[in-house]
Amino acid sequence: MVFAMQQTYDVIIIGAGPAGTSFARVAAHGGLDVLVIDKRKELGSPVRCGEGIGAHWEGKIKLPLHGGAIAYKIDGAKCFAPNGKTLKTQTPETKGYVLERKIFDKYLAIEAARAGAHILPKTIATELVKENGKPAGVKARTFDDEVLEFRAPLVVSAEGMEAKIAREAGFADAVAGLYDTDTCFEYEMANVECEPLIEIWFSNLYAKRGYVWVFPKAKDVANVGVGIGGDLNEHPKERLDKFIKAHPERFKNAEVVEVKAGNIWVGPPLKELVKDNFMVIGTAAHQVDPIHGGGMALAIEAGVIAAETALKAARAKDFSKRALGEYETRWRAAEEGKLAKRLRLRKVLELFTDEDFNRVFELLDEKDLERVLNGDFKPVVSKVLLKRPSLLKVLKALI
Ligand SMILES: Cc1cc2nc3c(=O)[nH]c(=O)nc-3n(C[C@H](O)[C@H](O)[C@H](O)COP(=O)(O)OP(=O)(O)OC[C@H]3O[C@@H](n4cnc5c(N)ncnc54)[C@H](O)[C@@H]3O)c2cc1C
Repeated sequence: MVFAMQQTYDVIIIGAGPAGTSFARVAAHGGLDVLVIDKRKELGSPVRCGEGIGAHWEGKIKLPLHGGAIAYKIDGAKCFAPNGKTLKTQTPETKGYVLERKIFDKYLAIEAARAGAHILPKTIATELVKENGKPAGVKARTFDDEVLEFRAPLVVSAEGMEAKIAREAGFADAVAGLYDTDTCFEYEMANVECEPLIEIWFSNLYAKRGYVWVFPKAKDVANVGVGIGGDLNEHPKERLDKFIKAHPERFKNAEVVEVKAGNIWVGPPLKELVKDNFMVIGTAAHQVDPIHGGGMALAIEAGVIAAETALKAARAKDFSKRALGEYETRWRAAEEGKLAKRLRLRKVLELFTDEDFNRVFELLDEKDLERVLNGDFKPVVSKVLLKRPSLLKVLKALI
């Protein structure tokens, strides 16, 4: 492919993350001529991820997880209050895996290529090409430093947080504002004892608005990271180092084997997901869980739904906003309600003081935690307010 570069396709996808390669796999399998370009020379690297994914997603994303991409199997989640009190849950929704993203992302790209998609790494999309005011392709700088123009009646932004081409296409809210962005810093560490549980540590001392996570990749290896609400005066590395220092027993033999950092959107999805000849999928479309910043599975799901819509549009030779709108309708029906509840919860949690966290953890049991995670807030809020009516001001947004 690289040696006989064609310049016209049925669809051009910008970004070979989970969203882009999932779209490419389904679209190519359905018979479309697909080009995926990514500015990275090694797909999946550098990793900007805690690498956790729920097992319940496997059915939805229509792809078995590649064995080699699974670092560790997770049996549940354990949440820590600032005073150390814990709540554990082991529902089907909290079972899952911590992945090796470098293997996982490349596996998704290989599956897309096997389905017939053309993949072009180390090639950056620099400009949206328009014809009669509508998207018609992209200009891109290849790894040979050549500037080429690729043409297609459908352009898909799977660009992740950057979303430059999506903004050029008129998706003004694809810009990531500070308030709805978490800045994250993470060490992958060896010699850290772990149970097969995702750990979530709440405390404003270490994670203003967010939390510290310990995601095990083996019984003695973990991603230890922090995400904090966008604040120019705060550096997540300092917060994470403070957390590690405060737990000397746990981390006394720990050795850092990889450093990871990145920003993730924790606000609402884009107001529109399609325009004539253009679709936005995955983190570029702000399809991310506002509580934990998880976006891999949502990105894959959006990629699959969008590709199924694109196949229909191609058969009808109609790439209008109306025809592409089926993706938006299906995706919003599947995910938007749940994500809106999670956003409300995030906005409540960001008002919590450490004292509030401690009090609430004292009052709740594991069943309550499951209810909260499932968006069933009412019985839990009533239980807390019975004992702590002073929390009404903070919790009323959940009722
Ligand atoms: C610190 C951190 C921890 C996280 N932890 C988790 C977690 O534990 N679980 C989870 O599910 N999610 C997690 N996420 C979120 C998750 O990583 C993303 O939601 C997911 O990668 C989204 O996939 P995507 O395909 O939409 O975008 P991405 O994976 O971001 O892929 C976008 C691709 O587009 C390419 N690109 C961008 N612009 C251009 C351009 N102009 N030209 C060419 N290529 C371009 C990029 O190089 C990139 O490869 C985390 C995020 C961060 C930052």
